[in-house]
Amino acid sequence: MRPRIRGFQGPYSPEQKTTWVAQPIATACFYTFAFLFLDGDRLTWVVASYSACFAVLLGTWYACESMDPSTEGGLHCLPMRESQKKARYCAACRKSVPGMDHHCAWLNTCIGKRTYVHFYFLSMSGAAAATIESAVFVLLLTSWIDEAAAEEKFGSVTGYKAVLGTFTALVMILAFAFVSLWLFHTYLLTQGIGTYGWLVRKRERAQAAKTRARVQAAEKEKAKKKQRDNEEKERKENKQSGNVENGHGIAMTVT
Ligand SMILES: [Zn+2]
Repeated sequence: MRPRIRGFQGPYSPEQKTTWVAQPIATACFYTFAFLFLDGDRLTWVVASYSACFAVLLGTWYACESMDPSTEGGLHCLPMRESQKKARYCAACRKSVPGMDHHCAWLNTCIGKRTYVHFYFLSMSGAAAATIESAVFVLLLTSWIDEAAAEEKFGSVTGYKAVLGTFTALVMILAFAFVSLWLFHTYLLTQGIGTYGWLVRKRERAQAAKTRARVQAAEKEKAKKKQRDNEEKERKENKQSGNVENGHGIAMTVT
């Protein structure tokens, strides 16, 4: 089989198809509720901040999906300069990727030296956009609620709350996923290691913990055995001294 070149290439993964449906729905929902229930400066600020994050998300997503991560070039990620020196083989893409970090099922392509910076900003802008959307939806359900407009556009306030509440819960899941991803990669940057290096370190630490536990168990067993031996020795000595005392007793009686 020939290697996969980029994310925008079949066969598409189920996770990738999910993002193609979920993100446009989340974005459409945001603009719909913002334009239906907000106005003035509030509308301007909310739409401007979300749109700025969404523009970065869209641009970095397109870059990650359209670039071939097995090629050299692109932006260089300084904190990862050591961990991105090696090229690794990706079994899913069937090719060697310089500075490979991981194969992303959601983008259906590899994240390596060529695309890591774009990927990092994708996670950051996605986290910001989904957090803004979640916060705006929560406010539209609470302190920003316009009951007259809700009744007019949804038939009832209950209907408005049910629909917006469902979208809020779904967008919060999206925000949680993006924020977790962004925090994880920010942590990796502070450590100067990629996802692959982190997995190797995790496995080595687990192995070291297992070895430590085995050594501690063996030492504990050794100490127990020593205690048992001492107790046995003491018992034998006590028995012997008891026999000597008995011997005296007999001797005394005979005398
Ligand atoms: Zn790959």
